[in-house]
Amino acid sequence: NVPVSKVIKDQFMNGIILRPGQILSVEDAMNIAKNYEWEVELIHEQEINPFDAIVSAYSDAYKESSRLVQRPPVVTVMGHVDHGKTTLLDRIRKAKVAEDEIGGITQTIGAYQVEVRNKKITFIDTPGHEAFTEMRARGAQATDIVVLVVAADDGVMPQTIEAYNHAKTANVPIIVAINKIDKPNANVDLTKQQLASKLGLVPEDWGGDTVMVPVSAKTGKGVEDVLEMILLVAEVADIKCIPEGNARGIIIDSRLDKAVGPLATLVIKDGVLKPGSYVVAGSASGRVKALINEYGKRVKEANPSDPVQIIGFDEVPDVHSIVYAVDDLDTSRSLADFAKSQAQKEKSVTTKRHVRLEEFLSMTGTTDEKKELKLILKADSFGTVEALKQAMAKLENSDVKIEVVHSGIGSVNSSDVMLASASDAVIMGFKVKPDAMARKQAEVEGVQIKVYEIIFNLIDDLKKALEGLLEPEE
Ligand code: GDP
Repeated sequence: NVPVSKVIKDQFMNGIILRPGQILSVEDAMNIAKNYEWEVELIHEQEINPFDAIVSAYSDAYKESSRLVQRPPVVTVMGHVDHGKTTLLDRIRKAKVAEDEIGGITQTIGAYQVEVRNKKITFIDTPGHEAFTEMRARGAQATDIVVLVVAADDGVMPQTIEAYNHAKTANVPIIVAINKIDKPNANVDLTKQQLASKLGLVPEDWGGDTVMVPVSAKTGKGVEDVLEMILLVAEVADIKCIPEGNARGIIIDSRLDKAVGPLATLVIKDGVLKPGSYVVAGSASGRVKALINEYGKRVKEANPSDPVQIIGFDEVPDVHSIVYAVDDLDTSRSLADFAKSQAQKEKSVTTKRHVRLEEFLSMTGTTDEKKELKLILKADSFGTVEALKQAMAKLENSDVKIEVVHSGIGSVNSSDVMLASASDAVIMGFKVKPDAMARKQAEVEGVQIKVYEIIFNLIDDLKKALEGLLEPEE
């Protein structure tokens, strides 16, 4: 029965500055209660994550289908190095953006939007599947459609497979752009055959259901077809948003600018963002001073799927974090404070967020559903990978299933770790080791990497894990 204003005033007299809406620690709350002659007994402590309330408000809104409208697709281009991702992105931008606007482009902001037959498409123009999966690992999937670029003179290569597996685990529709068809040694049919045999992607003209478009990013041939296909696939995928209210978006690029301070590019997912909106993204908060589009022009609002830069954060927000617009400055600050304290806690406690072999059975709960152990498998040769997969399949029984999310040859790299984090998988290496970067990232992400030199040991550990009998490692 004590008014908030009095509590704040009394605490101020004690030298403690509180804000309305601020979340107190249990100890602070107990101490404050004592000042008003209350004894507090702690029976149960449960941390409230104030971001959860926001997230569930959005999920509730998504349940009311009448509130949802279609929004333009957000597309990421992935594929093997040198197969033409950057060239394709440049070609599309040049073909579709008016000359006078190109003049305004001084630097890319990480995404751009084009219009085809009055319909918009947003491209994230930092190609690469690692960023894609890192976003997903953080629960911030920006991409609706993946364009997988495969060069017709080179065919399906290791990173093609990697990119495909990233897109597949994210459940994102894939369009294949068979690129470089202008080259004399381009072989579209052979490329299609490889896509079918290595990835199980069967082209529509062979009776399958994967859209494959032959293109030349260099000459521009087929590029219009790619855009048409994106619109078609988007229509089928029925990509929706909440068109009004507080915006939320995903940061795809962020940096400190000498002139304007923290600068972040985001792709809006829901709502409308305007100058003056209060925003929070992890531990960064602030008020939007200006919104700038991909041509360097100030805009009055940003709508779903629009790429836009925000000036006004008090610090550089993490790339791939989610931005929420909130009602007032106090709310944005207290959310940022919470994120800061969480980050500090996570630093001090070694996080263990993902499945581990030893705990696979107990961690997957006791539902009647068939349990699924997800694995990423790396080995020294294709032969071994195949042999291991076959041996693993034999371990499956009516209760447990093993799903190899991705397999490949070579050392465990950071892309594997991010994929494991996003799909909650354990990484198993045979006669290969994690590189330094992967090892560090695995620690941060709480991903388990097990490496083996002897096939028997690997299979034996798996067998024990499936039976819940594997002893934790030291
Ligand atoms: P990325 O690594 O996938 O981004 O590949 P780039 O876009 O940088 O392209 C790699 C090389 O292939 C560059 O030299 C491009 O000029 C060339 N290239 C890209 N697309 C085509 C194409 O359609 N035809 C030909 N002949 N060369 C291409």
